[in-house]
Amino acid sequence: MARYRDAVCRLCRREGLKLFLKGQRCLTDKCAIEKRNFAPGQHGKSRKPKVVGYGLQLREKQKARRLYGIVESQFRGYFEDAAASKGITGEALLQMLERRLDNVIYRLGLAPSRAAARQLVRHGHIRVADDKVTIPSYQVVPGQEIAVRESSRQMPVMERSLDLAGGRSLPSWLQFDRATMKGKVLSLPKREDVNFPLQEQMIVELYSK
Ligand code: SF4
Repeated sequence: MARYRDAVCRLCRREGLKLFLKGQRCLTDKCAIEKRNFAPGQHGKSRKPKVVGYGLQLREKQKARRLYGIVESQFRGYFEDAAASKGITGEALLQMLERRLDNVIYRLGLAPSRAAARQLVRHGHIRVADDKVTIPSYQVVPGQEIAVRESSRQMPVMERSLDLAGGRSLPSWLQFDRATMKGKVLSLPKREDVNFPLQEQMIVELYSK
């Protein structure tokens, strides 16, 4: 599966807003959106086509996919599972994205970005309900305890990230105790827990064509 390996700031510039893909840098004036808020490429500055219909739907899907760092085939799989579920498709899709273990680690403040969170999971630093889980796409369920492996609790990257995340509010469906480096999934995430401007209905319309 081909993963995007180019400069990630280009993705924000393409979408025209901050996707917060680089941790601390995103909060400084070094952020490419602060310095060059126009599309990347030779004609990025001059070309400003009016985006309507299919184009808008496509941009909305790309925004969500890039925000969570997911390749197209996997994102489509989430949509198909959401469409087959009983609830509202768009909300079910967002709920699945939020329940990914890498997103949960980012939301708990243990990593400065979702990409860094994915790395922590892959390298075996995270335990879910006392089991080592190394799959970033793992779907957490209410009641599960998410803990940092004992030998990894002093890792500078986590300490720095937690200091940085101090100003970020924890979503209502998660709980975290810094003293023990343990968190808990209190409930399923709701639509209002997604703290990013996404129009999920457009994604549903795009895939329903
Ligand atoms: Fe996006 Fe962060 Fe780069 Fe800014 S610094 S363009 S928010 S990835």
